[in-house]
Amino acid sequence: MKLFETTSLGTITLRNRIVMPPMATLFGEKDGTVSPRLVAYYARRSTGGAGLITVENTAVRQDGVNYPGTLKIHSDEFKDGLATLASAIKRGGATAALQLFHPGRQIHPKYAGNYPIAPSPVPCPVMGGNPKVLELDEIRELVKCFADGAVRAKDVGFDVVEIHGAHGYLVAQFLSPLSNKRNDQYGGDTQRRARFAVEIIEGMRERLGNSFPIILRISADEKMEGGLTLGETREIIPHLERAGVTALHVSAGCYPSMEWVVQPYLQSRGCLTELAAGVRSVTNLPIITVGRINEPTLANSIIEDGTADLVSMGRALIADPDLPNKAREGRFQEIRPCIGCNVCIEAVGIKQTRCAVNPEMGREEESPQPVDTSQKILVVGGGPSGMEAAIRANTIGHRVRLIEASETLGGQLGPAGVPDSKAEIRRLLDYQRYEVERSDIELELGKRFHIEDVKEFQPDHVILATGALPRELDPGEGGMAGSVIQAVDVLRERMSLKGDVVVIGGGLVGLDLAEFLSRPGTKVTVMEMMKHVGHELEWNVKKMKLKTLREKGITILTESSVIRIEEGSVVFRDSQGTERSIQADAVVSAVGSNPYNPFEGELRDMGFSVTCIGDCKEPRGIAEAISDGFEAVLNLVK
Ligand code: SF4
Repeated sequence: MKLFETTSLGTITLRNRIVMPPMATLFGEKDGTVSPRLVAYYARRSTGGAGLITVENTAVRQDGVNYPGTLKIHSDEFKDGLATLASAIKRGGATAALQLFHPGRQIHPKYAGNYPIAPSPVPCPVMGGNPKVLELDEIRELVKCFADGAVRAKDVGFDVVEIHGAHGYLVAQFLSPLSNKRNDQYGGDTQRRARFAVEIIEGMRERLGNSFPIILRISADEKMEGGLTLGETREIIPHLERAGVTALHVSAGCYPSMEWVVQPYLQSRGCLTELAAGVRSVTNLPIITVGRINEPTLANSIIEDGTADLVSMGRALIADPDLPNKAREGRFQEIRPCIGCNVCIEAVGIKQTRCAVNPEMGREEESPQPVDTSQKILVVGGGPSGMEAAIRANTIGHRVRLIEASETLGGQLGPAGVPDSKAEIRRLLDYQRYEVERSDIELELGKRFHIEDVKEFQPDHVILATGALPRELDPGEGGMAGSVIQAVDVLRERMSLKGDVVVIGGGLVGLDLAEFLSRPGTKVTVMEMMKHVGHELEWNVKKMKLKTLREKGITILTESSVIRIEEGSVVFRDSQGTERSIQADAVVSAVGSNPYNPFEGELRDMGFSVTCIGDCKEPRGIAEAISDGFEAVLNLVK
């Protein structure tokens, strides 16, 4: 694969063309220094085989901290930790880069204890605040801060620096006509708006020398009405090139268009490659592309067809740090796929990030190790939680028996993966099934668990992952609960319902179901008791999902509760408290589920050591199910 050919950034040779782009983890210490956890996280991605590892946004000035845990490089006191980090990355064989940044107006004063700064007095539509306009001497001082940061990065052993000029942060605020309303030498036409970036590059180049690689990350299209467009970006690139930038990392979006910054599964794979191609046509600089590139074959095709020279695979490397090594060895089915759920970013700013499919992310130092004494582990239930526990336990050397009542593995992942938009869930299911198949787990499909089974196997530990059963809709007075179909049955049997369909429950399942059912000849209404639908969805996923539902003509009724279901209609109380009725040729319930956990008590009474995981412990999402499986095995070896 061309993806695994070496390539160069200036005078540096990279072992392959896979880039880990900077992604905020907040694994740094509260004071902005490097933590052991952060080192382990990046070192793991390096041993996994990526060519270039870019450490997340690092503040070049004291006030450039947008969240607790943001790394800092504004003084020498931060150098020791960063040196440890750079050397850990390089020990794993990757080239080490550090991203230098200042958030400007995209900052929450609560976290930084600072005021927002910006080229012009235009508040960030998401973060608010009244930014202080930068004076000329302050701009010069910031240019110097970027150069100081770059020199420190080089001093401590980083091979490359990247300037964060994308996603609406300070450098991007100067580039964008939305946030830069200046009429001095730093505002106006594209040349003047590019001047801040140009001076930063020139300042770094002067102090780093001619050969040290400097990457500029840019949102080639802000995806905002009145924002920076590809056309303007193409005018800006020659100025950056003349200033001495080594390569361009072509991204998109800013905070108000965040679904282009961290693209959820509802965006197509490789959704920003057109921007990379558009930039490439005006420069000979190496181009790095990014944007939901979660498969090595896709990454390779992007390199093969000449769209870009390098490919950023950020979340794909969070989900599976070994993706590069596995792909290079042709072990594609062993790659744990990123499902584009954005669980990893939903907590940024509130708590440290995590991955829905890889519970080891950020806990690399705790990873379960091979055991000296093998135990017999019985896992009951082959959904995502049970499979995860079985795979993990078997991998570290336990003898595992996995019993599943149905004829196939997958549990709730099966129906969850039915809608067209859920292809990534189907990939996750394929991955977990493959991992079970290639292990030496004793798999018993189509077998209902009986207490007798433990007597025969005599496990040292039982892991119960028996799942959940759909909640029955409360029929209410005079109700007809019998006429209600369960969402899971509609999905499992791929039912095609005609006429007016009312989906009761506007959580993830209800919204997915509405999309699945929507087709010519079917009019779908979602009815939700709460004020908002999709409460468990990450913000960007929800934004895109609701847009899709609107485009499909699906009606959403919030603060509406069912009173009763009659022949051909649903009677409900609307948000104003008025009793109303809507036509319903079919009613589908998506009101959640209840734990199914019939064996725990008896097993404990028999003296078995038992852990309940996944939905049988408490119905939740994929992230929690998989995390429970991991934790159960982690606790076994303690
Ligand atoms: Fe991918 Fe979801 Fe993991 Fe983020 S949390 S890396 S989007 S699988």
